[in-house]
Amino acid sequence: MNEKGVPTLLGIPFDACSSYLRGAGEAPPKIREALHCTASNDWTELGVNLRADGIHEDAGDLKLADPGSRPTGEVQDTPEDAFHLIEEHVAALIAEGKRPVLLGGDHSITYPIVRGFARHCRALTIFHFDAHPDLYDEFEGNRLSHACPFARIMETGLAQRLVQVGIRGANQHQREQAKRFGVEIVEMRGLPAYDKLKADGPVYISFDVDVLDPAFAPGISHREPGGMSVREAIAHLHAIHATIVGADVVEYNPVQDVAGLTATVAAKILKEILGKMLQPL
Ligand code: MN
Ligand code: MN
Repeated sequence: MNEKGVPTLLGIPFDACSSYLRGAGEAPPKIREALHCTASNDWTELGVNLRADGIHEDAGDLKLADPGSRPTGEVQDTPEDAFHLIEEHVAALIAEGKRPVLLGGDHSITYPIVRGFARHCRALTIFHFDAHPDLYDEFEGNRLSHACPFARIMETGLAQRLVQVGIRGANQHQREQAKRFGVEIVEMRGLPAYDKLKADGPVYISFDVDVLDPAFAPGISHREPGGMSVREAIAHLHAIHATIVGADVVEYNPVQDVAGLTATVAAKILKEILGKMLQPL
């Protein structure tokens, strides 16, 4: 794995494992559009110019037979088919020496993404920003649900350490799962958690936009009040002290958005993650 590889965007327009609302599959082009919007410049807060030649790349969107969606009557991928494609594409980007940065999509995609990483690296630490632990053994009969990815990742040993930040409303089952897998949970009420965001080995960031308070980011499927401000989220991203080998920004749902506000927020988070990846330690 090339820890200095070029951060490379890949959109994953998949929301077929959402339990409540569809729409996250429409997010990747909207996040890109907001990222390139000329209303703000291309410099990150940490002083990286994302417009500089070759500093990051964009591999476009993954082509899925079912882009997450509507019953069109066309041939559709099963989630397993889609997950296989996601894993292959992520592993291929890493094999090319790139650092994949994935645009979801619902959070179920993080499981196949991390499978792709695990082919190259068995000692991954994951910093997971979310209102929810996503540790259900199964949800409404679906073990691949967006409520389950971190149970799948931890039970198959794909990550050596999982730190969850911004959690609120974990139930008894999820608390038991966290204990079972040794997950380090920093609940929203326990923030800030800057000291937890240090790691010696490679780090993957999984950023569920619903970690933010819905007042800042209404365009999500599961609005859970009492979340982070955009500033708190950025402060935590900036506090990361580790080599970041990849990231995802998931669960932005354009259908729920108000005047594209959340697209702008998701793009800002993406921008600061890219800046952090490109900033020398
Ligand atoms: Mn999530
Ligand atoms: Mn969530």
